Amino acid sequence: MGKYFKEGRREKGEGRKIFYFFLSSILYLLFFGFYGCAVKPYHSQTRLIMGTVMEIVAQDEKAIEAAFKEIEHIDDLMSNYKPESEISRLNKDGQVKASPETLAVVKASKKLFRFSEGAFDITVGPLIKLWNVKGNMQKDASLIRIPGEGKIKEALSCVGTNFIDIDEKNSIIRLKKKSVILDLGAIAAGYAVDRAIAVLKQNGVRNALVNAGGEIYCLGKKGFSYWKVGLQNPRKKDGVADIVKLRNRAVATSGDYEQFFVYENKRYAHIIDPRTGYPVDNGIISVSVFADDCTTADALGTAIFVLGKEKGEQLAKRFKNVEVKIITK
Ligand code: AMP
Ligand code: MG
Repeated sequence: MGKYFKEGRREKGEGRKIFYFFLSSILYLLFFGFYGCAVKPYHSQTRLIMGTVMEIVAQDEKAIEAAFKEIEHIDDLMSNYKPESEISRLNKDGQVKASPETLAVVKASKKLFRFSEGAFDITVGPLIKLWNVKGNMQKDASLIRIPGEGKIKEALSCVGTNFIDIDEKNSIIRLKKKSVILDLGAIAAGYAVDRAIAVLKQNGVRNALVNAGGEIYCLGKKGFSYWKVGLQNPRKKDGVADIVKLRNRAVATSGDYEQFFVYENKRYAHIIDPRTGYPVDNGIISVSVFADDCTTADALGTAIFVLGKEKGEQLAKRFKNVEVKIITK
């Protein structure tokens, strides 16, 4: 009996030792696993795609490569500068068999056209061509010509998302009128950011930042803290208007400070009001939209810029989890 008791006590003591051994091992693994993950170096890579600087920050270089490939794939589908893109072929031939990606973006654009009562309109292409803001930015002021009323009216007659027809069953997009030109410049970059984030996640990445020239998504955290994003000061080059902390959230900014030209002391920026045919001039100089995905943030930013402060804020309220920061003149 005594022996049994003695041995029993010894077994109990060993059990406790084993228990503490396992506990400390688990704590050790947890601590160093977590710490190791947090301090593993971040890689930041930038590339020029979609006519803008694309930046991806993450800890896995192979995943970054895969995400850039996805962004290039989106550009191959939606660019207006690549003659073989689906959008270029649609603009040229009046119809195209579209990929699920292009269909998704055009469908989202149609929805926002309705919600914004025509302020957001991807058929703005003829007006973009006419105002040629990108081209005029490079020119000497004396060479800039402002389009006349007649030309604006002519372009306006080909503007309207109702000219886009989607044949869901056969994945075909058709343009119902000749000379209609789609331009996905207000939404494609945000969509590319979302696709890049999806690819990073598929590769096991849990913390990353993707920035497509100001359209940004922050996945997880950077180390122990939220990602910090500086919002551009619209009137100070390289100046920061605000610093925001984000986690699993997108922010996109539309402004009049990057693409514009000045003619007779007046600023003409690249966002056009499709209802008037003229570059927006409503007192807003910058709109930042925070949302759960970057497609919504990007498109909504442009829509609010056109609608103006009051109507823009009303539109934002119709979307879940959306916040807006507007800077006026
Ligand atoms: P963002 O910088 O995201 O606001 O996008 C601006 C770009 O969207 C322009 O360069 C045009 O390609 C396109 N765009 C301009 N005006 C509009 C509009 N009212 N609706 C949709 N896209 C537009
Ligand atoms: Mg936009």
